Amino acid sequence: MRVTPNVKLFAWRLVHEGISVKAKLNEKLPHVSSLCPRCQSAPETPMHAIVFFPEVLQIWNSSPVASTISRDPNLKAWDWWSQFMEAEKSKPNFRIKSAQVAYLLWQIWLVRNTLVFEDQRQEPGEILSQAILLEEEYWRYHFLRPPSL
Ligand SMILES: [Zn+2]
Repeated sequence: MRVTPNVKLFAWRLVHEGISVKAKLNEKLPHVSSLCPRCQSAPETPMHAIVFFPEVLQIWNSSPVASTISRDPNLKAWDWWSQFMEAEKSKPNFRIKSAQVAYLLWQIWLVRNTLVFEDQRQEPGEILSQAILLEEEYWRYHFLRPPSL
């Protein structure tokens, strides 16, 4: 995948349920609440943190992959990712779209951490444009041109 190594590693950890969300911490440390630190209304699973948290879903809904991603809240990260790949792989711009998803996942996670650890919020629109910017930087650096759809 055409993304920076940190983004690739993060996507790998996400689909293997390896990111440190509250629900996972709670399994090892029962005194840590499993609730989502942002909405306090559901356990913070990887998918809740990255896709289904309402503000985050708003970002996905306005993203270039809005029509493809699954909104099934019972999906595990691996199945969510696989369904996306399956739906997109035969379409044009597959590489660009999968990279966009990876950057968006990464950006959403960074923003979640900023909120949890530094108590700072970011607007959903800002998050989306930052993810697109990161991806464009990668393309400029490696291919000397922005991604073209
Ligand atoms: Zn939540």
